[in-house]
Amino acid sequence: MTRYGMLIDNSSCVGCHACQIACQNQWQLPYNEHFIDVHTFEKGTYPNVNIENFTTQCNHCDDPPCMRICPTYATYKRQDGLVLVEEKKCIGCKGCIVACPYNARIWSEKYHVPEKCKFCADFIATGETPACVNTCVTKARMFGDLDDPNSEISKEIIKKRAVPLKAELGTKPRIYYIRQI
Ligand code: SF4
Ligand code: SF4
Repeated sequence: MTRYGMLIDNSSCVGCHACQIACQNQWQLPYNEHFIDVHTFEKGTYPNVNIENFTTQCNHCDDPPCMRICPTYATYKRQDGLVLVEEKKCIGCKGCIVACPYNARIWSEKYHVPEKCKFCADFIATGETPACVNTCVTKARMFGDLDDPNSEISKEIIKKRAVPLKAELGTKPRIYYIRQI
């Protein structure tokens, strides 16, 4: 079974928001709702300053607090590890929004359910890669099988010493980052 994950190279990310907009387009989100956040941090002290662009979204954690807290089992983990929401089971308690330590969930005003990145679940079923990966102008995003030691993503994670966010929480995120500085 494939174990999907993502690698994001902050040193290549130019903060252009193309991934965020492609995702909004893919999921028909209104302009003020998005599954990908784009952050820019300044590092160093003048005159030796640099910036790091950092995009965040649902990490499809292997031990997701958003799933553990869900009282109706609306949030579930698919066999390939994608964390998804069965909308008809959701009672709108927003527990998952509060429980996520990555601030990855948003409340959909249109559907009245918590939404988040779905790793383009329907799209990848047809052999495509997620819209954000396809759109990235600098190829800063990579998607693939974390369990295959010969996949491009697995090799790059090791070669570039990529790390997930807040690994110390034990959530086992599936998005790895190559930090710029
Ligand atoms: Fe759940 Fe947040 Fe992990 Fe996504 S990043 S699986 S919303 S805890
Ligand atoms: Fe589960 Fe819905 Fe409550 Fe989230 S808002 S914890 S998906 S019932």
